[in-house]
Amino acid sequence: MSNSNFLLSDIITIKGIGTKTRKYLQKKKIEKVKDLLFDLPYSFIDRSKITNLNELEIGKILTIKVEVLKYNFPRMRNLPNTVICGGDNKKIKIVFFNSFEGYIRKVLPLNRSVIISGKINFYKNNYQITNPTYIKPLNQVEEIAKIFPKYSLTEGLLEKNYRKLIDNVIKKIDDDFEWHDKKFLQNNSFSSLKSTLNKLHNPKSNLDIFSNDFRRLAYDEILSNLLTLYSARKVIKVKKKRKKIFKNKLSNIVKKNFNFELTSGQNKILVEIEKDLKSDTRMFRLLQGDVGSGKTILALISAAKVLEDNFQVAFMAPTEILAKQHYQLAINLFKKTNINVGLLTSKIAGIEKNKIINNVSNGNIKLLFGTHSLFQKKIMFSNLGFIIIDEQHKFGVKQRIKLAKKGGSNCDVLTMSATPIPRTMMLSFFGDMDISILNEKPKYRKEIVTLIKPESKLEEIVPLIKKQIKLNYQVFWVCPLIEQSKKLNFSSAKNKFEDINKLFPDNVGLIHGNMSIDQRNKVLNLFINKKIKILVSTTIIEVGINFPDANIIIIEDSNKFGLSQLHQLRGRVGRGNSISYCILMYKKNLSVNAKKRLKILRETNNGFIIAEEDLKIRGHGDLLGFQQSGVKNFKFADPIHHKDLFLSAENKINTFNSNSLKKYEKLIKLFDKADIINEIK
Ligand code: ADP
Ligand code: MG
Repeated sequence: MSNSNFLLSDIITIKGIGTKTRKYLQKKKIEKVKDLLFDLPYSFIDRSKITNLNELEIGKILTIKVEVLKYNFPRMRNLPNTVICGGDNKKIKIVFFNSFEGYIRKVLPLNRSVIISGKINFYKNNYQITNPTYIKPLNQVEEIAKIFPKYSLTEGLLEKNYRKLIDNVIKKIDDDFEWHDKKFLQNNSFSSLKSTLNKLHNPKSNLDIFSNDFRRLAYDEILSNLLTLYSARKVIKVKKKRKKIFKNKLSNIVKKNFNFELTSGQNKILVEIEKDLKSDTRMFRLLQGDVGSGKTILALISAAKVLEDNFQVAFMAPTEILAKQHYQLAINLFKKTNINVGLLTSKIAGIEKNKIINNVSNGNIKLLFGTHSLFQKKIMFSNLGFIIIDEQHKFGVKQRIKLAKKGGSNCDVLTMSATPIPRTMMLSFFGDMDISILNEKPKYRKEIVTLIKPESKLEEIVPLIKKQIKLNYQVFWVCPLIEQSKKLNFSSAKNKFEDINKLFPDNVGLIHGNMSIDQRNKVLNLFINKKIKILVSTTIIEVGINFPDANIIIIEDSNKFGLSQLHQLRGRVGRGNSISYCILMYKKNLSVNAKKRLKILRETNNGFIIAEEDLKIRGHGDLLGFQQSGVKNFKFADPIHHKDLFLSAENKINTFNSNSLKKYEKLIKLFDKADIINEIK
């Protein structure tokens, strides 16, 4: 079997792994042989030194050399077998639970010297080792007296066996199983793959993400990701499309319908988009911009350009509320034109729905809004030329490509995201797309004041709320939980709703994820129409919704959320022309780190800075913010500590060509990217 095939095969193919062990390994997410190799030891156990019996330390794992002196095999159940051993004029008791006499006589022959390694304890005035990990005859001392890797193992897995498994797997890899050139390895102080794995699994220190060996795996992981995105990009770009032709007549009408000037950042991006639309390769572009930077308008102006060329446009939003909001904005912007705008939501059903579907397929509806339901099979466009995806960060590369394909070969794709990905990771996440960054917010924007308050000081903010409500402004009140939980001491939306309702009778609404969409929309409509002034909710208000008159957001147990998530939530206010407030509440006993994190929010309103700072504080392996946002995480690579590796791998993209996939075929397979690449093709 080739190395690749072996590493990708099910762990059951390894000698010594039966269905039982396999089940235990699967609990550790180890399915294929290579997963064993990627499960690195976090530390080591040093059994290398043979300790004198005069120098035993209780609680330590030590290796000793002793002579077997006396057995004691009690004939009573539950009593352990014991063996007295001696050395250096001292004695030690070796204790065996659940053992057989025959086994003990075999591994500890009377009057012979042996090497034993295990944890030292002290019981009834005796040093003892209970169920020692290793016992070997003197002539095999080098098999014990060495440094052992330490893995985090689940029950059912014995360290001893586990280590042997991995040793055997590494032995089966050929010395020249490699995808990098010798020179490249040398220049980066990397070792060959086999040697890298060997060293990582035989550590002499705690797992060190800065070590050359760890860095090599991190680099490989980044590179495999980039190669996947590179192939995706090629698939999109290779087919020629019909260039879009327009003179910006329609988009100029649209522009007249809003009462502000575009920022220079926005104008720059419109130029980029126009160039894509007019070119003969398809647009596959990500518009990355902080919350409130004004992406929606750009999407709609771009839509107007495409509509002028008689193509249809589909605009996909992450929630129905948002789809409706975009739809209403579009109705306004296109009111003096002949463009038919449509909306499909789950609420629209029956005859009404069929009418819309018909009007889409016969081309009457030119601009259609909806959620991902827009891409059901039964919805057929007559002439789709442009897909816009708002807040697309929930999609992986596979889904992005699927959507692009659905649109057909003339279809351009614009995706928008406010999830602030650190610049170092931009290409590694979105290398399949061209990227536009909108890093300037509309200038007249009023400030958002961020306050950090303990729950006990709630009374201090009540007057502020009263005053703002009187001025006809509105308030979001966000809680982490829907319902009170016995396990978690966090505020729940339901309880908060009761409390706030007492303070501000008839002025409060409640929405959360357990309500039907109908119920939710009812409450939201009350809020939009200003029948209620305070909206208590869970984080379902997180994405996109635009309420220009909401100028206070209160977030309960704010320390429970990721910083980027808090930043998103804060972005719900500060959209109108008054000063706004974001009040981060906490229950008492905030940790130093938690305080530090919240302070970052108080100090900056720049999503990119917040994302980077958040990462720094969280440290390696805890990229929660990204996981929450659905962006794929890396197993080894760390955006902060391996920044140079990201940059160097990204530089390598420029040298990729059609042979690269072949050259790195083994790498792609090893990091599970082969399936994705096949699917894309
Ligand atoms: P996001 O980028 O978060 O999707 P939106 O597109 O919802 O932001 O825009 C937020 C608000 O800013 C909207 O009310 C929008 O009308 C307004 N806006 C967009 N561009 C400008 C601008 N150049 N000047 C003033 N206001 C703008
Ligand atoms: Mg938006």
